[in-house]
Amino acid sequence: MLEKLYQCIIIDHDYRLVLLAAVICAFSCFTAINLQQHTAGSQKQYRNRWLILTGIAAGIGVWATHFVAMLAYDAGSPKSYDLLPTLASILIAIILMGAGFAIYTNRENKLSLHVAAWVMGLGIGAMHYTGMSGLHIWGAFSYDMTWAISALIIGIIGCTGTLLCLERLRGVKGQVWAAVCLTLAICGLHFTAMTALTVTPDPTVSQTEGTVSDGVLLVAVTLATFMVLASALATGIVDKHLADRRTVEARRLRNLANAAMEGIVLLDGKGAVVDANHSFLGLCGRHLEPLRGMPFTVCFQRLEFDPDRRSAWFVNDAILIGANEKEIPTEIFFRPVQDRIGAQMVAIVRDIRERRAAEQQINFLAHHDSITGVANRAVFQKQLEHAVSKGSSGRHAPKKHALYFVDIDDFKELNARLGHAAGDAALKEVAERLKKVVGDQGLVARLSADQFCILHDGVEHNDDADTFALALKTALVAPFPVADKPVSLTASIGIAMHPNDAQDPEVLLLRAEIAMKRAKLEGRGKYCFFEPVIDEKLEERRALKQDLLQALGRHELYLQYQPQYHAHSRKLSGFEVLLRWRHPEKGLISPGEFIPMAEETGVINEISIWMMNEACRAAKTWPASLGLAVNMSPIQFEQDGLVEIIGRIVRRHGLTPDRLELEITESILIADEHRALRILKKLKEAGMRLAMDDFGTGYSSLSYLQTFPFDKIKIDRSFVMQMDDDSHSVGIVRGVIGLAHGLGIPVLAEGVETEAQLALLQDMGCDEVQGFLLGRPERIEDYADQITALEQHAEQTA
Ligand code: C2E
Ligand code: CA
Ligand code: CA
Repeated sequence: MLEKLYQCIIIDHDYRLVLLAAVICAFSCFTAINLQQHTAGSQKQYRNRWLILTGIAAGIGVWATHFVAMLAYDAGSPKSYDLLPTLASILIAIILMGAGFAIYTNRENKLSLHVAAWVMGLGIGAMHYTGMSGLHIWGAFSYDMTWAISALIIGIIGCTGTLLCLERLRGVKGQVWAAVCLTLAICGLHFTAMTALTVTPDPTVSQTEGTVSDGVLLVAVTLATFMVLASALATGIVDKHLADRRTVEARRLRNLANAAMEGIVLLDGKGAVVDANHSFLGLCGRHLEPLRGMPFTVCFQRLEFDPDRRSAWFVNDAILIGANEKEIPTEIFFRPVQDRIGAQMVAIVRDIRERRAAEQQINFLAHHDSITGVANRAVFQKQLEHAVSKGSSGRHAPKKHALYFVDIDDFKELNARLGHAAGDAALKEVAERLKKVVGDQGLVARLSADQFCILHDGVEHNDDADTFALALKTALVAPFPVADKPVSLTASIGIAMHPNDAQDPEVLLLRAEIAMKRAKLEGRGKYCFFEPVIDEKLEERRALKQDLLQALGRHELYLQYQPQYHAHSRKLSGFEVLLRWRHPEKGLISPGEFIPMAEETGVINEISIWMMNEACRAAKTWPASLGLAVNMSPIQFEQDGLVEIIGRIVRRHGLTPDRLELEITESILIADEHRALRILKKLKEAGMRLAMDDFGTGYSSLSYLQTFPFDKIKIDRSFVMQMDDDSHSVGIVRGVIGLAHGLGIPVLAEGVETEAQLALLQDMGCDEVQGFLLGRPERIEDYADQITALEQHAEQTA
């Protein structure tokens, strides 16, 4: 059998041309295989172009092999070929080889590969026998069917081998083996088929000649081979160009990916890492090479990856395991991609540590007070609403709650005196102490500058709340060091009970605040339960306070003057000016009521300046012996430039400063003693006189007499009033007069209403008197007579 094949190839053929045919075949097969690889790797829209090129290269390869081999064949007579079958054979080769490669490239299952191999094998066969049908020699053809069919089987097996090599082996190795298989398929089929052929020389059989001679065929084969060569060359060039562009592009992409803050990871269809940028590698502290091919999920704690998912998706809380097993919160965005190197998904990994930290910070700030760290108003309101709603619903008897509104007394002064840092430290201390008392029985919150609120759970009776309030109060009194100075604070506390005082959380809070204000009115460091009556009173007061702001502009304020007399001679010595407010609806409102309001709103400063101007204008027309006494509010001493303001007013009206007597009370000295003393000293240097008002009502009036040289002491009218029937008061007044005189300070007694009082005071050596007995506060016009009388008397004596 092999002998027959040997005879065919070596004896019947010119072996040199056979070798050439084999080389052409191998060369075109390799080209075709190479083109097929481009087909497989190309994008869908270019695939058909590559398939056509592959078909042409393979088809022409088969065809050229056949006809070069035919040139090598010595039939024992001249050969020629018919044009049509020759051309048809070329087309058949191209179409069927192309079809085979197309089926293989677009294969969907195992069977496709075999179908493709059959199409190709039969295609080579069809080409061969079609080409042979156009052959003219002087003899009769006969085929040995066994050999003829074997040729086809060899072709099909060779093609199957070709495609299996392509599928199983990667890279150049696969290409080479595939090309070798295809060459064997083509050559094998050809020479086996030629072995099947027997030509019986018989000049009578056919004398016709084909149109294509061996010479023409040689040219055609050369051309065809050249075409295959050219197409291969073109492919190579184009491919090189594309490859260069791809490397540049890839480098650019890689740089871009590496520059990204986010980690970028390319994954294959199974979720294994194909590539990753610097950011990602840095984040997880790994190198690329060992990571390649590993499941992406190994870099994370419990990350689910569904390889079948082909749409974009997002994982917002993935914990990445970084270097040293550090847990890094990340978010991942998965997006499908198509990529030459086999990536199917890109994962974009974002480190969200900073954002998380910021969120936590914001969250904390949103819920806590930044200075003291206790809950803020928002949280408190929420808690309160929650507690209240829980208390009112449910089958069990509703739980009671107590709400404490804690307002630090004189916090503004502390802040002004010691600075804001000290103020903050004090707030922290207060918060700590409140928290300690409350423990886990409730919530402490800071609502505003110096106001805290406490929600106290599970209160059974008012008594419980009472005890608790007392505990809060005592917790605050112990002094604590602020800026190395011991500071003692008190707070006014208002208490409202749920559900008795209010059901609604907002109203409850408001009522606790009302109770706090009431406590404040009672003095520092007091606590007070809410009562419905105080609510009304406070409401009224609030409205009045509002009206007072407008009173000056609406000319509702005016002045009255109360005369002061020398006690012995009963001669007029001066006037004390007193402020009056006639409210359009409520009528006259006593200064005892509205002056504190003016002080609270600060409008007292403006009113005082107006009042002093008015009074000085009036005093200017009086005889020089008459003094003008003006009441000063402690609030005025907080104002900058007070001395200058008063000085200007006095000068403007041409009054000598010693005509003006400023009445001050002890409270000025309590708020900030050093500051007050400094200002008083300046006033005195400016020539003004200073009187201590309401002497005897405070705690430490006597000590102030030593620290500051007052020009006058006004004994409070409460002592004078009681002198008639209280020998104790007589004693005090006598003592005060004696003491003052000892210090060289003259004394004025206020509130003299009876002759008896006057007689007693004269007897005690009191210098001046003032009171309803001698003159009520009136409009200055009502005292015009007395003033002119004094003037005339003065002129007469002069
Ligand atoms: P004060 O300085 O002790 O004023 C004297 C108060 O005693 C006045 O009350 C006056 O009407 C009252 N009074 C005078 N003589 C008698 C008397 O014989 N018997 C009785 N029962 N009362 C007498 P008023 O005018 O109601 O003033 C109350 C307080 O309001 C004043 O007490 C003063 O502290 C304050 N005040 C009045 N006007 C001004 C002002 O212009 N500025 C400031 N800062 N405070 C003022
Ligand atoms: Ca006074
Ligand atoms: Ca007084």
